Parts: sequence; structure tokens; C-alpha cells
Amino acid sequence: MKGYRCDRRWGWDCHGLPIETICENALNLRQKSEIHEMGIDIFNEYCRSKVLWYTNEWKTTVERMGKWIEFDNSYKTMDNSYMETIWYIFKRIYNEGYVYKSKKVLLYCPRCETPLSNSEISMDNSYRDVYEQAITVKFKLMSEPNTYLLAWTTTPWTLIGNVALAVNGEEIYSKIQITGTDEFLILMKSRLITIKEEFQLIEEFEGNRLLLKEYNPLYRIYPDTERRGYLIIDGGKDVLSDEGTGIIHIAIYGEFDYEIIAKYELPFIQHIDERGLLIDGPKEWIGTWFKDLDKLVSDDLRRQNLLFSTEEHLHSYPFCYRCETPLIYNALDAWFIKIQEIKPMLLKTNEKINWYPEEISKRYKNIISTAPDWCISRNRFWATAIPVWECKQCANSAVIGSIRELQALALEKVPDDVDLHRHIIDRIHLRCLICGEKMDRIPEVFDCWLESGSMPYASRHYPFENAEEFCSYFPSDFISEYVGQVRAWFYYMHVIAVLLFNEIPFKNVVVNGNILAEDGTKMAKSKRNYPDPNLIIEKYGADALRMYLLSSQLMRAQDLNLREEIIQQVYRRFNLLLVNVIKFYRLFEITNSDKENPESTNILDKWIISVLNLLIHEVSKGMDDYNTAEVSRLLFNFVEDLSTWYLRNSRSRFKSNNEIEKQEAMKTLSYVLTVTSRLLAPLTPFISEMIYQTLKEKKLVTLESVHLESWPNCIDGLINVDLQNKMELTRDIVKKALESRDNAKIPVRQVLGRLIIKGTSLDKGFLDIIADAVNVRNIKLESQEEEHISIELDTEITIDLKLEGIARNLIRHINNYRKEMGLSISDRIILHLETTDEEIMSSVRNHKDEIMDMTQSDSLIENTRSVQNHKEFKINDALVNVSINVKN
Ligand SMILES: [Zn+2]
Ligand SMILES: [Zn+2]
Repeated sequence: MKGYRCDRRWGWDCHGLPIETICENALNLRQKSEIHEMGIDIFNEYCRSKVLWYTNEWKTTVERMGKWIEFDNSYKTMDNSYMETIWYIFKRIYNEGYVYKSKKVLLYCPRCETPLSNSEISMDNSYRDVYEQAITVKFKLMSEPNTYLLAWTTTPWTLIGNVALAVNGEEIYSKIQITGTDEFLILMKSRLITIKEEFQLIEEFEGNRLLLKEYNPLYRIYPDTERRGYLIIDGGKDVLSDEGTGIIHIAIYGEFDYEIIAKYELPFIQHIDERGLLIDGPKEWIGTWFKDLDKLVSDDLRRQNLLFSTEEHLHSYPFCYRCETPLIYNALDAWFIKIQEIKPMLLKTNEKINWYPEEISKRYKNIISTAPDWCISRNRFWATAIPVWECKQCANSAVIGSIRELQALALEKVPDDVDLHRHIIDRIHLRCLICGEKMDRIPEVFDCWLESGSMPYASRHYPFENAEEFCSYFPSDFISEYVGQVRAWFYYMHVIAVLLFNEIPFKNVVVNGNILAEDGTKMAKSKRNYPDPNLIIEKYGADALRMYLLSSQLMRAQDLNLREEIIQQVYRRFNLLLVNVIKFYRLFEITNSDKENPESTNILDKWIISVLNLLIHEVSKGMDDYNTAEVSRLLFNFVEDLSTWYLRNSRSRFKSNNEIEKQEAMKTLSYVLTVTSRLLAPLTPFISEMIYQTLKEKKLVTLESVHLESWPNCIDGLINVDLQNKMELTRDIVKKALESRDNAKIPVRQVLGRLIIKGTSLDKGFLDIIADAVNVRNIKLESQEEEHISIELDTEITIDLKLEGIARNLIRHINNYRKEMGLSISDRIILHLETTDEEIMSSVRNHKDEIMDMTQSDSLIENTRSVQNHKEFKINDALVNVSINVKN
């Protein structure tokens, strides 16, 4: 609408664990080895066939929601062109020295048999609070009789692979004797509080004294290494003084542990295999699932009198976000991108990104600062194959960056459209340029975040195609996703943009929160704890749902509990009010050629025109700031102003016999609706189109759709702040007067004699509006400007006023009847009235002209009724019979 062309192409993330897990379940595969048995080709082709399973559901919902996007020309991360760009990017950053291969301790899912990245884990909040048995274990010192070190752990299964104990050499440790035993126990002095038994303090000393002392291993595993183990080492300040016993048991299954093992060259024991089963340890337990070892180990230690105590411990533990298996830290060979090296550039370029809401920027900075190196390899199947070939003979390796390059170096014939998935690429070999041996591709595939993060390039097959087009689009102007993507998609896109171009990938980013169930829990199909979105749209329309979301804190990266009740309120406050305005507008014809005009002498017209132009200004600003909540608030208020103030107080002008007055009102409303339809177009596309098509029927607009229109410009000269302030005051006075009517229990239809306003002066135009809205004959202003404005309503109903009230009542009944008969405003009628009530008859005689005028009657005949079209109703408990004859 602002004159730019916006390319919006739908994209599909096709790879990775989510789809693999769906397929494993569908094929009833429980282990990774079963995929190998079945054949990676069969498995991958099955994944390919299932990836676009939900395409039609997506298309239907996205279109119904009014999201404007090109669906049919979508990109897919499994497209060959997409994957070839990934190869190009990998080779480029590999050649520039940003990639390395290393053993690292990573969170690992033993069921999916693959490491997971930190972002994958924190993104979907995979940490859950669970109760587990924590145990305190006794390690017997070799050099001192009957003396044990106490160590505490929440993962007893790791004790089988214990290789050392860590203390803090600078802390004080205590040796104690529990009363009634002959054993001596050692733990950190500050942790004596955990000892519940009565004890005697034997001595205190610095942790340094314990260093390099040896202890009896709980389970002796002889690793194929000459490294020395089962001794006490210094863990420094990482040995906390406020947790456990101040002595840490070291096994390979932890980041800290791994560092210690490397630093002290301790034995390297992985007693759990890649499937999470015990492969080294007590014979009778071999093959046991690691989680089941917890109980076996603690029972066994109890039997050996090495279990000091047990307790239920609440802690937060990570689970696989796909299969819910508890994750373990595992030391793995993997490929990494050197995030540490590019951190300064990430932080520097982040200054250029406009985050909305702003506070995300700070959070994002922290994410960058604490980010580990990025593990980009996965030991899985359905993803882009990593284009690295290795020679087993001489360890030489080759990295391939395009299909053409592969064709040139491969031993086998490679077609132009070769599929870059594992099951195809693994059959291709290279010749080692150093020793002449055949080279195999390494088995790993890419982390699919490398694929999503490469979207700006890979979706256009850059640089193989569209290089020029890419340059004109990069960096993109705007991007939006939910808050979980801050450390995922947004972060990875930024990383790759910095690696390739030292640049940001997007300029403005809107981060939204999560939509939760009404009770604040996660929406779950199984729990049926949320209303079906299709039914919501069916009931209230997509615009009501859109407006509900756009106006909420969701758009400020905060979570929203979806409440149907509020959507219904939005529907009533917004959709219904607007639809009623349109219906009303449709009733009248526009006669003059000068059809749409923002100039009128009427004060209400001037006011709504001023309000509207201020609205254009404020909405434009809100949209520029990405503040949809503020924009929605402004639009809600405007629709209310238009419907419940402007229109309600202008109705008589629209129905007036004074053609000039009538056309002035009509032209103003036409102008207001023309601008409103354009202002609403991006937010509520359907209702805005409904307004536009109504204007089109009246030949006020010419384009096919409002969505081809341009954004309206604010005309400053039409904004009249003074007028708007006075109208506010007017509304305030009306509100007060209606309240006092309400207190006196006099219905608005009963005209009253006088309203006295104290403390302010207003022009006649405003006083007329007040008189009309409050339904009083006279308004009296008393005294001059004061801070406090008060009103006094004369509530005495004289006979004269009573008759006028009856006349108004009659008019309302007759017009309702006209509506029932399906008459339009242009249908003229002959009216018959019959009643035995004297008061009603007097009212009819006194107000005959007004009644005829307001009911579009050409004549009013008393005390008769026509044969057809008559109806009876009650006024002040008396019966009246009304007949209507329509004139041809
Ligand atoms: Zn898993
Ligand atoms: Zn070689």
C-alpha cells in the first residue's frame, strides 16, 4: 500500500528430527539400527513422501486467515537447488577457517541417537522439573584406614563410569565421625549442615591436602588407556560450596567433567553406548537402559555399605523435544562452527537490527554472548548430506561446494540432477589426491538449522542463480516469528549472514509470544484444552481473530492465553459495529456528482473528519513502529466514535427532507468509509474489503479491491484539536445527563424540559447535539468557565412533554413495523391510526407533522384501520392499532 513490491514466498522446512520421528513411528521403527536394516534409501524416500502431507491444511488455513503469501511457488529445504546452496555455504566458511571437527560433550538423545543443540533444547522448553533420587556415596580412601569421601549425585548410573573426585583445594574440608560408628567421613566444612546424624569433628584441613590421593573405585573398569584414574583432583571454584558435599564425582557425562578429564588426562570411559545401553560395567547389567541403572546402582551400593544417604531431589532435567527421552551428556565427534571468533561481529551488527519489542535486543545480546560453538552435524538420515569425503588411508579430506565440482571429482558418473540426500550421495566416492585411495563421505548430515538459517540464499539458489535479485533483497526489511526463534532461526540466520557478508540478514524483526490454552498451559490436541481455530473463524470471522491477536500482548513477545470470550467481545465491539455502519450507509443514495467530500459545515461532520485525519496520522506512526497493539486500540476507539457517537447523533440528518443537509452527511460518511477501508486493509482484510465493495457499488471507488489501493495520507488542515476537545466535553455532558435520567428512571424517548450546564460555555452546535442526545427541549448555560462542570436536569414531565413523548414512541413503533414489512426509506406510505385513548389522540393531533415526517407518510388518517397490514401495540398501557398502506 506504500508503493513497494513485497515478495512473499511460502517455505517448507522439510528435514530433521520432527519428520524422521513421525516416519519412525509410522514404520514402527524403535531403534536407529532398524533404519540401517531397512535401508536408508527406503527410509529417506518414505520421509520425502510424508513431508508435504499437511500442505493442503496449511494452505486452507493460511488463506482463510487472510495471510497473503505465494503458496504454489514455495521453496523447500529438500529441493536440490536449496541443498546445493547449503553445500556452497559450508565450503565457503570451511575454506575461511570457521569450521572444525572435535570431540565435545553435547546433550544427546539416546533414542534418536543424535546430539541436540542448546537452542533446540531451550527453544521448546525441554527442561522439566522432575523428582529423582539423589544419593550420597562413600568413596574409600586407600591411604587412610576406614576413611571415606562423600560425593553426591542425581544420576547414579554415571557412577559406573566414575574416574575421579574433584575438590576445591582452597576450601576447608572436615573429617568427622558419626556417633556410634567407627568410620571417618570427609566433606566440605560448609556442607556439614547436610549431615543429619550426631557426629564428632575429628579435624579440619584445606582441600589441597586431599589432592592426588587415591580411592577404591566403586566399579573398576579397565579402559584401554594408560591414563591414571580414581584419584582426587582440584576442580577449583567450580566445586560449589552450596550444593551436595563439596566433592564432585567425575564421569564423562557432563561438560565440566569432560574438561576435567581432558585437563588431568584421566581415563576416557564411555560405559553407555549410543543407544543408551550399558556396554561396560557389572556383567549382569550389560544391555540395561541407562535410566534403569539408577536403581540397580543404589541398591548395589547399599548392599556394599557404600550408600551414605538418599533423598528425593527436585531438579530441572532436559528431555528430547521429539521423543521425550531423558537426554544425557555424551562426548561425541562432531563438526562445529567457530561462534567464539565471530561474536564481536555478531554483537556489532546486532546494533543495526530493530527488534520489536525493544527489550528482546538485550536478551538477544545475552544469547550471543553466552553462545557455544555451533554443532552443525547430526548422526541422522533425512537432511542435506555433509559434503566431506575422507580418506581412511591417509586421513586426507575433501570438501565439495557444488554439484559440478562433485561431477568433476567423483569416481562414479554423477547426473546433473543428483539428489544431495545421504542415501544417494553415500554411493559416490572420490579419489584421494594424496595417496590415491578411494574416499568415502563421512556419515553425518547437517543440522537443519544450518538449512533454515541459510534461507535468504538457498531459497533463491544463490549464487548459482538469481545473484542479482538476491542483492536487491538482502538484507530483508522485515521478519516475524515467535519468541522461541530468537535463539534459533533469527540467531542462525544472523550467524550465517555474518559469516558470509559481515552483515545482518534482516532490518526489522517482530517477535511474538506463544498462544496458550485458556488456563495458561500449553495447547495440546490430546488435552482438547483449546477451541478449534476453524470453528472460531467460522463463528466470528478471521478478522475478529486477527484483531484479537494483533491487539494483544502476544505481539510484544508475551504469551497469550487464548480466550474465546474475548474474541467474541472483539467481534461485537469491532465487526458488528462496523457492519451496522455499512448496513446503514447502504440505505441511502448519493445524488450529487461531487460524491465524496471531506468538507462540511456541520459540526459532527467536521468532528469525524478531524478524528479520522488524526487517526491516519497515529495509525501510520503505530504501523511504522510495528506497534499493532496501539494501532488496534486506535481503531477500536475510532469504530466506537463513528458508530455510537457520530452516526447515532447524525441519523436524523440522513433521513432529513432537507436534501442539502442529507447529502452533506452522506458525503462525509462516504469519505470516512473510503479512508477507513484503506486503514483497515492490512489488519482486517475482509471487513475492509466489504466496506470497499459497498463503496464500489455506489461508484465511489474504482479499483478491483481495497488491497490494490494505496495508504491514505493525513490532511493536517482537517485536524481541529479545539473542536475535538469541545466534542469530548459535549460527550461528557451527555453521559452525565443520561446518568441522571437513568437515576430518575425516565426513558430517553420521553422528552424533558430543560438541562442546565454549569461551569463551561459551548457553541450552539454542540448544545444542539446535547439537546438531541439527551432529548431535552432547552439547554441553559449558567456561569462562566470553571474547573468543575456540573449539570442539572429538570425531570418534571408536564402534559405537553408527555404528549411529545407519546409521539416519539409512536414513531418508533411505526418505523419498526415498516422494517418488518421490508419497506425501505424511499417507500412512502398512508398511515391509519386507531385508539380509544384520549392522550394518544391528543399527541397525534399535536405532533401530526412530525409523525408523518419521521415515518415517511404522505397522509395520516385518524380512527380508521385498513384491512391489510395492521398491527396493534401498547403505549402507556393503552392499545393503538396502526395500518400501513404502501403507495406505489
Ligand atoms: Zn529423541
Ligand atoms: Zn589418502
